[in-house]
Amino acid sequence: MTTVGEPPATTRGIFDPQLLSACISCGFCLPACPTYAQTKLENSSPRGRITLMRALEDGRLDADDPTLQHEAGLCLGCRACETVCPAGVKYGELLEQWRDHQWRGRHTPLVAGGLRMGVRVTTALAAGGLVRRAARTTGPADPSRPHVMLGCMERSLYPGISRAVLRLVPDADVPAGQGCCGALHAHNGGSVEGARMAATLGEAMPGTIVSTSGGCAAYLDHQLGHGRVAELSQFLVARWAADPSSKPRLRKILVDGRVARIGLQDSCQLRNGMGVSAQPRALLREIGDYVELPSAGTCCGGAGTYSMLQPTMSQAVLAPTMVQAQEAELDYLVSLNVVCQRQLATGVKRSRVPVQVIHLAELLELALAD
Ligand code: SF4
Ligand code: SF4
Repeated sequence: MTTVGEPPATTRGIFDPQLLSACISCGFCLPACPTYAQTKLENSSPRGRITLMRALEDGRLDADDPTLQHEAGLCLGCRACETVCPAGVKYGELLEQWRDHQWRGRHTPLVAGGLRMGVRVTTALAAGGLVRRAARTTGPADPSRPHVMLGCMERSLYPGISRAVLRLVPDADVPAGQGCCGALHAHNGGSVEGARMAATLGEAMPGTIVSTSGGCAAYLDHQLGHGRVAELSQFLVARWAADPSSKPRLRKILVDGRVARIGLQDSCQLRNGMGVSAQPRALLREIGDYVELPSAGTCCGGAGTYSMLQPTMSQAVLAPTMVQAQEAELDYLVSLNVVCQRQLATGVKRSRVPVQVIHLAELLELALAD
């Protein structure tokens, strides 16, 4: 284990000092941390990582230190630690500042380097022949209408999601020329570039932005200000409560003549960053037999680029969900984020669990009565 020693008088200016000093080292966050649950090592806990950040800031450790490099990558960035922290530590922001400094030069993971060099996710997927037809764009954004945001991975790998959103929100437009929200960049050592991309997207889509990705929604909510962006379940529950006439008729989804058993995987950024967890459950209860999996609120190990950077830990974190989905005899396992969806689909295939992984938008579309 790395020893961090006594603090020297100078600091390096890597972290916001107020954010870094907020932690009172109480350890309440340890049981909430999925990587600590796997390793039982202090360094792999939120408190341990903040201690490492402080050592980096104070100059007691350098970015070359193998423990620093390892832990900067091993953290999922799920922010479960924030939800239980009595001191209100903004761990997600600290992690961004850490990776901005840590992932430079030869310490830069390949994916992070590609993102920072300007390789757009959609462009990369297009080069691999993976871009398919998402919802048709409708020209410039009309500020009086809600806007469907076409996430980079969603429009390429899961184009049916945006088409389903249009059936649920028929008055929405799909502004042309949408860029990337910048969340992946910000979480991979490029927070300045990420913030710039978020601002550009916000300017291109004045008014309400509806996102089907919890990660994108939470990042834009933080960057553009609360109220500009709504994740799909958040948007639908609020809109249908305010104006019941806008709600389409939903029926129970049947499988083999019985009501479908439906489980959910929360999006970490959505649940822990935006506090949205009741809305998707309320919608799922309307259309099926909702089963709360014990791990529903715990990270699935997808975590942006994490499954590529840390495949072993990623699979270890996912494993309990696969066991629980099988034991619960689910028909559907619902995601609120396409990265989670890909992770769950891979896990289901590997574990041969007979459950269909599906995005909330597409399951709601299946429940449309007409
Ligand atoms: S719960 Fe908060 S204050 Fe306590 S150790 Fe964890 S991050 Fe620090
Ligand atoms: S963000 Fe998640 S993985 Fe990282 S320290 Fe916090 S709880 Fe642990």
